[in-house]
Parts: sequence; C-alpha cells; structure tokens
Amino acid sequence: MNPLSRLPSVDSLLSATALMPLIDTHGRAVVTASVREVLATTRAALREDVPLPDESVLIARVGAGVTAKTRPKLRPVFNLTGTVLHTNLGRAPLPEEAVQALVTAARNPCALEYDIESGGRGDRDNVVAELLCELTGAEAATVVNNNAAAVFLLLNTLAPKKQVVVSRGELIEIGGAFRVPDIMSRAGAKLVEVGTTNRTHLKDFVEAITPRTAMLMKVHASNYAIQGFTHAVPEAELAELAHKHGLPFVIDLGSGTLADLADYGLPHEPTPAEAIAAGADLVTFSGDKLLGGPQAGLLVGRRDLIAKIKKNPLKRALRVGKLTLAALEAVLALYRDPDRLHLRVTAVRQLTRPEAEIRAAAERLLPILQSVLAGLPVTAEVVALKSQIGSGSLPVDRLPSAGFAIRPQGKKGGVLNRIEQALRALPKPVIGRIEDSALLLDLRCLQVQEETEFAAVLAALDIRK
Ligand SMILES: *Cc1c(COP(=O)(O)O)cnc(C)c1O
Repeated sequence: MNPLSRLPSVDSLLSATALMPLIDTHGRAVVTASVREVLATTRAALREDVPLPDESVLIARVGAGVTAKTRPKLRPVFNLTGTVLHTNLGRAPLPEEAVQALVTAARNPCALEYDIESGGRGDRDNVVAELLCELTGAEAATVVNNNAAAVFLLLNTLAPKKQVVVSRGELIEIGGAFRVPDIMSRAGAKLVEVGTTNRTHLKDFVEAITPRTAMLMKVHASNYAIQGFTHAVPEAELAELAHKHGLPFVIDLGSGTLADLADYGLPHEPTPAEAIAAGADLVTFSGDKLLGGPQAGLLVGRRDLIAKIKKNPLKRALRVGKLTLAALEAVLALYRDPDRLHLRVTAVRQLTRPEAEIRAAAERLLPILQSVLAGLPVTAEVVALKSQIGSGSLPVDRLPSAGFAIRPQGKKGGVLNRIEQALRALPKPVIGRIEDSALLLDLRCLQVQEETEFAAVLAALDIRK
C-alpha cells in the first residue's frame, strides 16, 4: 500500500479535539496553515521512506508550528550582558512614569498638535520644548526620531553646499553605520577636516574659515577615547571664534545626560546645559542613551536656528510620534528633581547600582543556577565583573559589578555554547556573554523585582546533554 495514502487530510487533522484550544486562541487560519506545513514536510519525509509518525506526533508538530508563528518577534529578554545601554537590546528601559504616560497616550486621543487653551492648532514639539529649555538653558528646542536624524537635519538646514569645519579627531563612526563624514555628505554639506587625529588647535580652525563656511562643529567622541599627547580646543574658544565670524557653533553631544553623573559617583559626561553655557548655538543628543528615555533626537539652542530647522520639509519626515513624546515628557519631568534620579530613572538606577547590592542578588540566585546546571561538566560561582555603560557613553569607564561565571570542567568548551544557547531559548531569553572561556552573567540590570521571575524562567532551562 502506498504510505502516502495513510497521511491524514487537512480537514481530518484540523478536526482533532487536541487542536481545538489552539483554534480558539489563535484562529482557524493560523492553525490550518501550520497543519498544511506539517503535512507537506511529513509527505516529503514519507517519500524518503521515513515511517509515518502517530497522529499525536503530527498534532504536537502543528502546535509547535503555531507557537513559532504567533510568538512576538520583539520579545522581552533579561539583559545580563553587562552593557547597560545595549543598542541591540533596545538601550534604556523606560521608567514606570514613562511607561504609564506612553500607555495612556496610546489608548486615548491626546493634545498632540492641539492647543487646548485656544482650541487652535498646536505644535507637537511644544509637548517637551519648555521642559527641554528649562533643563538645558536653551531658548528653543525640537525633537526628531534619533540623534542621527537630529545631526542630519541640522546640517541639511544650515549647511547645504557649504563647509562645516570639524576636528580630525572627531570624525567618528558610531555603531550601525553613523559616520560623521557620510552623514555630512548625505546632508549636502562639505566637510572640512582640521588638525590631526590627536591634536587640534584654535589656529587650525581660524585658517579653515572661508566665505563658504557654514558653521564650526564639535562631535563628542563618544565611543572611543584619545589619550596621551592630545589637545582639543575648548568649547568656549570655538564658540567665540565662530561668533566673531558670524557663524554658528554646533555640538553633537551624542549621549547628553541632563544631570551631572558625577553626583552619583559616575564619571562626568558633558551636559547640554554646559554646552549652551559655553556658547554653543545648537546642541544635539539622544533620548535613549544616558538620558534614559525613548529613542529620540533632541535639538536645543538658539531660537532663530531652531525655527529654521523646523521649517525644513525633512523635519516632517523625521518627526516623532505621540508615544515617543509621551514617554519623553515623563522622563524629562523626572529630571526636575535631580535628587531622586537614581531611584526613578531606570537607566540611572542601573548605572548607579552599588556593587554590594548586585553581589547580594548573585548570592541569592546562585543556588538556583547551580541546581539547573547540576550534572553538567561545569562550575558556577559568583564573581566580580565590570559592566560598561554602552551606546558609546564613557567608553573607557567600567562599573564594578557582580554576577555568575560558568566555566567548563576540563577542556570541553562546547558545553558553554550549549548553555548559552539554552539560555537564549528560554521563554524569556537570558542574554549573557562568553569571555575568556567563561559564560558570564552580569546581574547589574536584573531589577530586584524581577528576581522571582528570573528564578522561575531559569528553572525551565533545558540543556542537551
Ligand atoms: C550615539 C551617537 C549618535 C547617534 O545617536 P542615535 O540616537 O543613536 O541616532 C550620533 N552622534 C554621537 C556623538 C553619538 O554618540
């Protein structure tokens, strides 16, 4: 008898009682598609003389297919990489205040571009402009999709076909293909490099200024540090030179934080307020780096320049939506009370978390980790680790932290890769890092209220022996 004739039909498999709950939850169309796929692969296997499995096996495969199809792609994970602002993991987690504001804005109509007092048309930038000015000392502000967009829009508005003078040491590449020279040419501006990689002097800028110069620009080196025999021109001197020639001086700050992180024991990172005070006419920075808010690009500075930028038709193409503005407004509001930032802004809380507290969490969770790894040729222990801030902020500074090191017993390193894969395959994936033949799980970013959930997720760890 032809084995293909014993293959159940789509309809008969679909009517199996075991599939009813799946159809109830996900709908007939999704389950039918999975049934068809399972039958197609089974048919192909039969042709290769693989025996026909029981119907219960086919049904289990349909269930697995439905799960794979319906699982969201944008799934939450545990970030135990040791990089707090991890670009590939979505950078800063939002504070609860921002999450609530975002949900409310998502669910309801809101005064996005509507002036409630006059009943007339409003401007979406006004949702946050006042707060941004208050926190930076700037006259005006506008918001776009991210800092790359802010830099692009600034150049495209103020320097088309004109020259922008930048120090050679600042022609940086930020991960994900943001390169200052490329952005410059795409924006239609002409880059004029001055100085050398390690040293740039005021006279280098003086000599570069021509009638075709549009602005002097400074780019915060963000993700690398120039050390040793170095010199950069102080911002106040560049501002003075630019103004003497009637030119604007602009700064791409990258990660502008609105609070002095030195107050929390972190290294000092330049703030937009300092840049404005030093004479910068425009400053751009990210919403989701040290600021700890949603992805956004913030532009603050002189009223006339911001007004010009807002008139660029590309502003419309790069604008942010109401969800971003709702979250951003809530995060900025928290900066009005700098004394409690380390408690309320999640990213700041994670960055300032004391090592002893992280170590205590590791000690609490170690027995659970050891029990799920029991029987494998590995050891697991609590170790001191160094976290990094990430997203190009303060690249050379490391934060003392703690977590787990899982090491193979003997030379068989393959077991680490299997554990690392199994951790990623958990319902809420656990992302660590392999370094120096150890699998490291840095607990800095595991919030105290997540520990129970983490323990429960870990208990489901299933490692191929
Ligand atoms: C991170 C960074 C950018 C890009 O910012 P996004 O918000 O990621 O677009 C641009 N310039 C500097 C100096 C940066 O550090």
